[in-house]
Amino acid sequence: MNSLDQLYQEVILDHNRHPRNFRKIDTASFTATGFNPLCGDQVTIYLTVQHDIIQDISFQGQGCAISIASASLMTEVLKGKTLAEAQALFDMLHASLTSDAIVSPTTTKLQVLTGVKNYPARIKCATLAWHAGIAAIHQEHQKITTE
Ligand code: ZN
Repeated sequence: MNSLDQLYQEVILDHNRHPRNFRKIDTASFTATGFNPLCGDQVTIYLTVQHDIIQDISFQGQGCAISIASASLMTEVLKGKTLAEAQALFDMLHASLTSDAIVSPTTTKLQVLTGVKNYPARIKCATLAWHAGIAAIHQEHQKITTE
């Protein structure tokens, strides 16, 4: 097992056992739920957004270790980011996992998430929370433009 594999396993197991931000935000600006029928994973993302910045983000759900750990990592990565930064991180992660794009993640958390590429059957588990998070953010943009 190389060092990235080892890091990957340790971080995924840790976040699965002790998910960060695993709660509901009652006053969330936006929520979205994602479902991955291939594995049975379901996660709901809660976002509080003010002035284009993600003030708070949390999730609830159930699924395999990778889907829960990925959601947990995502909440840690996205908290405090602008919506544009969140979109850019999603695009980077998505390109990294679904194409041959070579990316150099800047943080250990992102490195672990892109490491899922080595486990192709689990990529949908890893991106589920991100798809839900981005869907929630796009609702926000729609609301802003229609008001
Ligand atoms: Zn899964």
